[in-house]
Amino acid sequence: MNVVYISIGIVVLLWIFGNLHRRRKNRNKVICVVESNCSGCQCCVKRCTRHVLEMVTDETKIHVAVKYPYKCTACGDCLGKCKFNALKLVERI
Ligand code: SF4
Ligand code: SF4
Repeated sequence: MNVVYISIGIVVLLWIFGNLHRRRKNRNKVICVVESNCSGCQCCVKRCTRHVLEMVTDETKIHVAVKYPYKCTACGDCLGKCKFNALKLVERI
């Protein structure tokens, strides 16, 4: 039984340290949209719990835009949802 608790503890610790490392690494970054690649599928908008992204319409197409960049924690959750390579993390200016 102790082995199970120790294994669970190790997994939890690895998860915590992984998240801390990712946050430190991306501290000065923010999400950016490559508009020409965006299909407007909205998967990233639904995934972002901080409501950073929003759909916009311009003359040519509907695409996602970074509406509230100051809210972005650069967690990268939205990156994993984009199948069109339309999102990237860039340095904050
Ligand atoms: S990186 Fe995280 S906080 Fe920033 S837009 Fe994507 S899901 Fe939202
Ligand atoms: S997931 Fe990618 S293609 Fe879909 S709306 Fe977001 S940026 Fe555009």
